[in-house]
Amino acid sequence: YSGKKTGQAISDTMTKWKVKDFQSVPVVIQEHISVYDAICQLFLEDVGSMFVVNKTGILTGVVSRKDLLRISIGNQDLNKMPVHMMMTRMPNITVCHKDDSLLSAAQLLMDRQIDSLPVVKRTDDGLEVVGRVTKTTITRAFLALADEHDI
Ligand code: ADP
Repeated sequence: YSGKKTGQAISDTMTKWKVKDFQSVPVVIQEHISVYDAICQLFLEDVGSMFVVNKTGILTGVVSRKDLLRISIGNQDLNKMPVHMMMTRMPNITVCHKDDSLLSAAQLLMDRQIDSLPVVKRTDDGLEVVGRVTKTTITRAFLALADEHDI
């Protein structure tokens, strides 16, 4: 292969990839659970952040490990505080959709300096969480790119 051909092939692969080809399963918690239980869930699920939904399953917020650390070094009672009191809330949540290009999702992660994006589906009531894209997702895609082109 000439360098030019290889470059074109790699760029074709990168632009054809959609969020839905690489998204993983989201970890979702209810907004009324305590900060203490959210911390337990974070360890149990082995994730860096979790998406928060209301009783009807609509996205209302995000809690990251640093959000949980920040609230824990204060002297609040973590068992009494619900996560919705300290989460980052809608409409300030950056989201993506399953048919978005993976590149655009990667760009959002960098631009907003966040580790994860909920993949959402629009409904009449709001946004439903159907997946997640994290920096690990992008790393996996990076390796798949090398694999697909025998690098
Ligand atoms: P950490 O805080 O553990 O470093 P992040 O970098 O993902 O993890 O989160 C930084 C801040 O941005 C946190 O306050 C978090 O609530 C918020 N955040 C995380 N993901 C999103 C998102 N998709 N949209 C908006 N805010 C987010």
